[in-house]
Amino acid sequence: MCWCTPLAAGPVAGGRFPLPSVRSRRRRGRSVRADASSEADTRRKKVAVAGAGWAGLAAAHHLVKQGYEVTLFGAESGPTEEFCFSDPCIVVAHRVLVEFPIFHDQPRLPAPFGMLAYPEFPSLPVIDRLTSIPVMTAVIDFDNTDNAWMKYDAMSARELFKMFGCSQRLYNEVFQPAIQAALFAPGEQCSAAATLGMLYYYMLSHQENSDFLLCRGEVEDMIFSPWLKSLELKGVKFRGNRVPTSLVINKDTACVSGIVCGEESQQDFANLLHLSTIDVITVKLWFDKKITISKVANVCSGFDNPSGWTFFDLTSIYDDYTGNSTTVVEAEFYNASHLLPLNDEQIVSEASSHLIKCIQDFEEANVIQHIVRRSPKSTMHSLPGSYKYTLRGSTTLANLFIAGDWIVNRHGSFSKEKAYVTGLEAANRVVDYFGDGDFAKIIAVEGDEPHIETARDLNRRANELKTQIPFSEFFLQ
Ligand SMILES: Cc1cc2nc3c(=O)[nH]c(=O)nc-3n(C[C@H](O)[C@H](O)[C@H](O)COP(=O)(O)OP(=O)(O)OC[C@H]3O[C@@H](n4cnc5c(N)ncnc54)[C@H](O)[C@@H]3O)c2cc1C
Repeated sequence: MCWCTPLAAGPVAGGRFPLPSVRSRRRRGRSVRADASSEADTRRKKVAVAGAGWAGLAAAHHLVKQGYEVTLFGAESGPTEEFCFSDPCIVVAHRVLVEFPIFHDQPRLPAPFGMLAYPEFPSLPVIDRLTSIPVMTAVIDFDNTDNAWMKYDAMSARELFKMFGCSQRLYNEVFQPAIQAALFAPGEQCSAAATLGMLYYYMLSHQENSDFLLCRGEVEDMIFSPWLKSLELKGVKFRGNRVPTSLVINKDTACVSGIVCGEESQQDFANLLHLSTIDVITVKLWFDKKITISKVANVCSGFDNPSGWTFFDLTSIYDDYTGNSTTVVEAEFYNASHLLPLNDEQIVSEASSHLIKCIQDFEEANVIQHIVRRSPKSTMHSLPGSYKYTLRGSTTLANLFIAGDWIVNRHGSFSKEKAYVTGLEAANRVVDYFGDGDFAKIIAVEGDEPHIETARDLNRRANELKTQIPFSEFFLQ
């Protein structure tokens, strides 16, 4: 997530922007423009961007190109990103249950048939797979509107699949691991709305969307650091290890007039405290011999605890490791609160024993190097009931805009791509606010295929008719 606030003018001093207040006036519609003084007009317009992930970098990138003076605050010394997936196979209780192909190599089928036809299920009976069909009714009903989110956010993913008659085996062996890998918690702890968003935008809607691109090295090294360097050359001021903790708000103008770093102050967005987060632990292990790992990305579930985990064969992905006589693996443990108190050696031993359960050859190999990264509270937990506390790109403060994968926009799921686009959207809001610069061009999310559109249209009409049934609002929805 990042937030982005345009400030009229003024130097950065002692972690605070001692800024003149910004008067604002309402324009037609919802946008608001600052009354900048003529002196401020002649200076470059200042924008503070907090958070140097995909969203923050995208916003900083566009704004500096438009001539804004951008200060980018990062919680760490360089920009950071979370993690990187690929086309996975699902391993449940030590057995490979589903293998996903590269979908764009396959002839395109109308949604959702690509996802139903192409994955290979070495042992899941067809009868179990067929029980996924009724869930499509919910996928059609979930049209990414506010109403749809509110309706499905009230129940858990497990309740949803139960309600639509999904078989126990299909749930345990396919949906549960997918939810654990994409939403980082078991289905009973995840919102059905977030799950439907994930299912539709990640998997079902357009066949190619199910493919994941892998970075051939650490995203921080390959993408973020060069990106930040190029932004700095263009004039972005990066302030690492500086976390804005609060905003100075001018109550008369309902605008942000300054940013406070390093001291706790008033809570401006109190409802965000209702949102829950998930702890993630990443372990990178170097083994002293070559081990054959048949799939590059493995989504694992059904081991000793309810958390999901994934492991990646970095020897096959990263150019730096190919050809070595060692094996480099990265394992990510989600919902990993139980691992946080362990020391590095204990976490390495836990990761190794999980790997041995999947591929026995790891038993013969020794760990010669390791890196353990603890990321407490690093990602949002889409608990049922969370939706109402999430934010839109615009806020009640006229010059504060929010970006990030979890904000509400036309894309109903969570991904790096969405985070990047919301960063550009925040930059566009700044451009609109100041009335200065070009808007970033954003390619719209591909529309629903005609048959999905028709089904949704019919469904909407049926829902409208249902509201006319007497006492329809009497019963709990
Ligand atoms: C385990 C895991 C696997 C994932 N796999 C995939 C995948 O395969 N494909 C995909 O598309 N997406 C994936 N995602 C999601 C993807 O990583 C996120 O959607 C994306 O990183 C969100 O970008 P962001 O810029 O919104 O936030 P973040 O990446 O969280 O970046 C926010 C940055 O802001 C910093 N920060 C936080 N607070 C402050 C503050 N107050 N001041 C300054 N800086 C601050 C943070 O340290 C961080 O650097 C995965 C996520 C996780 C957790």
